[in-house]
Amino acid sequence: MQFVFSFDYPHEVAPMNLKHLLGGKGANLAEMTSVLKLPVPHGFTISTDACRAYIDEGWPDGLTVEVDAALAQLEDRMGKRLGDPGDPLLVSVRSGAQFSMPGMMDTVLNLGLNDVSVEGLAAQTNDPRFAYDSYRRFIAMYARIVQGIDSLEFDRLLDAAKELAGVDSDGEIPAELLRYLVGAYQEIVVHETGRPFPQDPHEQIRGAIEAVFGSWNGPRAIAYREREGIDHRLGTAVNVQAMVFGNRDNQSGTGVGFTRDPSTGDQGVYGDFLVNAQGEDVVAGVRITEPLAELEGHFPEVFHQLMEIFERLELHYRDMCDVEFTVEQGKLWMLQTRVGKRTGMAALRMAVAMTTDEGIRLTKDEALLRVSPDHLDQLLHPQFATSKVDVITTGLGASPGAAVGKVYFSSDDAVRAHERGEDVILVRKETSPDDVHGMLAANGILTSRGGLVSHAAVVARGWGKPAVVGADQLVFGNGSVSIGGIVIHEGDEISIDGTNGTVSLGRLPLKVAEPPEELELLLQWADEISADHMSVRANADSGTDAATARRFGAKGIGLCRTEHMFLAEDRLPIVRRMILADTPEEEARALEELRVAQRADFLEILEAMDGLPVTVRLLDPPLHEFLPDIDALLIKESNGSLSPEDAQLLEAAKTWREFNPMLGVRGVRLGVLKPGLYTMQVRALLEAALERKRAGGDPHVEVMIPLTISRQELAYAHGWVQEALAEIGADEGLDVLFGTMIETPRAALLAMEIAEVAEFFSFGTNDLTQLTYGFSRDDVEGKLMPIYLAQGLLPSNPFKVVDSEGVVELVNIAAKRGRSTRPEIKLGVCGEHGGDPESIASFVKLGLDYVSCSPYRVPIARLCVAQSLI
Ligand code: PEP
Ligand code: MG
Repeated sequence: MQFVFSFDYPHEVAPMNLKHLLGGKGANLAEMTSVLKLPVPHGFTISTDACRAYIDEGWPDGLTVEVDAALAQLEDRMGKRLGDPGDPLLVSVRSGAQFSMPGMMDTVLNLGLNDVSVEGLAAQTNDPRFAYDSYRRFIAMYARIVQGIDSLEFDRLLDAAKELAGVDSDGEIPAELLRYLVGAYQEIVVHETGRPFPQDPHEQIRGAIEAVFGSWNGPRAIAYREREGIDHRLGTAVNVQAMVFGNRDNQSGTGVGFTRDPSTGDQGVYGDFLVNAQGEDVVAGVRITEPLAELEGHFPEVFHQLMEIFERLELHYRDMCDVEFTVEQGKLWMLQTRVGKRTGMAALRMAVAMTTDEGIRLTKDEALLRVSPDHLDQLLHPQFATSKVDVITTGLGASPGAAVGKVYFSSDDAVRAHERGEDVILVRKETSPDDVHGMLAANGILTSRGGLVSHAAVVARGWGKPAVVGADQLVFGNGSVSIGGIVIHEGDEISIDGTNGTVSLGRLPLKVAEPPEELELLLQWADEISADHMSVRANADSGTDAATARRFGAKGIGLCRTEHMFLAEDRLPIVRRMILADTPEEEARALEELRVAQRADFLEILEAMDGLPVTVRLLDPPLHEFLPDIDALLIKESNGSLSPEDAQLLEAAKTWREFNPMLGVRGVRLGVLKPGLYTMQVRALLEAALERKRAGGDPHVEVMIPLTISRQELAYAHGWVQEALAEIGADEGLDVLFGTMIETPRAALLAMEIAEVAEFFSFGTNDLTQLTYGFSRDDVEGKLMPIYLAQGLLPSNPFKVVDSEGVVELVNIAAKRGRSTRPEIKLGVCGEHGGDPESIASFVKLGLDYVSCSPYRVPIARLCVAQSLI
């Protein structure tokens, strides 16, 4: 097996397709050298095969011969010799894995320096200070990385040298003192290893190669791979490359550049450079860099050559590239190139420009694959305008976007502060419908309990309001909350990021989301691909949300949670009155109030979604969310402050109290207990539809029953709908479809029977996940989930990414069985998974007709559906 490949080795396939063998960096160096024929300092790559062999069985047979031959070739090409006392060749030894692992593995620079060649370097650069500084850095770097010697002693000596010279920075230490340091460093090496510092460049290189191989299994690298899901077996390649010096003289310099602006995607010259400097100086910010455009003034020829290379790189890689380059005595050297990292804005604008652009001509499919869901998230939600974020705690990123504001612990206080014009972050243990006015007033929401499908998460997502939930390190005190030793009082400012779940003190700067005009075009391309397969609807519960959803391209409403229409402070009591009614008269009065309120809401929603389907789910209030807080009432009772009205509420609440509310009187079960309820809701809906129709509108109504368990139950519910239909609109040709949610495993398994009654199924994957695992969706994410994830007992949180083995299989079974009874049955998903990229891919595979997600998620879902089909 061949282990070593020079950069100009004639591979049979394009080197950039050999990243598994040459690593990312090696593949790009070979591509630049052998295909693009760019000026790259010569070098060679030791393959990942060699690394794997080394890890398994030690230094591979034959590798020394190959490396020596490659080094001899390198010396010939560069016209310099390793260890030459006159003009020595120096090399760098760098890691480079298939997938970029920035800073996780080791690199050794300036190899080849020894007591003799350092003099050669001093003469060659005419700078003894630089030569000795390079040598002492090399010794310390080599000692630490290759010989495993603690750098503490080296640092101590360096500090002593600075003190002695009376200077603050390393660069000011005079050459004489550096020469002395080199000696002292070598003594440390002798002391620690019992041997002198290796003077033979071949021995140095062998040590560095072994160290880079070994760093693949260093703790930093392992941790990084765990986090990024990179296979531990891949191994790293090693690149040995001749060093060139941008700090030789004023005809030299070094810089980094992008072929387009990586933050906006604009065309132009972007990057920084420094005259007479080394790469580290640009990155470390020791000196103020100059914008790349000014390179033209210093070295016009080099600048034009670089611009030409930029153009060729873009055409070749068909993407924006970033490069590192060095100019040595007027000659340009390309040190590295790769497809550049970019912001969401740049990703989107470049994808569109490169598709319509004459030169690159991406296909629409390629353009769509260039933009990730995370990129769109950045464009659709506010972000922090700084990367300097000190995180004090984290929870689950439940609703994306960043928000800043003053902390308030009660919804009433949040509303008052909002009315005073303050920005508010509502901080609660958890939220319930009682908090909706506070959530509305807040810029962001932070809770210590609850998971991704808890009340706070679902409501916040629906409104596009940033939320972090389940931050369980928060300890609530009186008028304050603490995290470790940090205490946050009411009115203190904090910043939260609902994209990654972080919480920070103070007010971080925000940049607002302003999607560029290219978004529309890209999503249009996405829809062209999805058209005959899957559409994206929205979960929306009000006219405003429906209008937002339509603006984002929703093709209808897949879930209107009618209980959400009663979250507003003035409406919650109506639902309570209906649930707690003692007499048929009281109940009838409450139902009538509900009807009037709902009719108006439905009208707005149908108007916003005119011509598109609107799926209205009949009431499904988890009772514990809608009933008064029994504990608070019991406290009032015990201290004698219970009003007669409270006493009545307490009595009724006790009657309805459930030990397992998530398995209790939810969904259609409430309809069964309150037979007039669903008929009333359908009546309100049909009245609204009829009014729209008479006004020239085009309403498409889909009535949906939640939490069904059998055909009989669904048929029973169908009766209520038919009752309302018979009263209203029977002769008016209203377009009304009847269907059910599939949220219980039983319903999924009995789908062939249920489809006898249902004209459509909508998979409520939140409850289906809850009931399949038997994990309480409101509790599991606090204590259990982190441990299950850490122990590898679950691959991911199944409330975020749908469980591909269990829950998806139930959806698959239900889809097949439903279709066997009713081939044209419409199938959708309205659980939160409908907005999750990985889950969407699973649903696309099953051939479902639509996914439905929160309005702000619609563009992302449109992109993901198309990407899954490409
Ligand atoms: C579901 O269970 O997936 C669903 C959409 O209903 P809800 O979240 O309102 O229970
Ligand atoms: Mg549900």
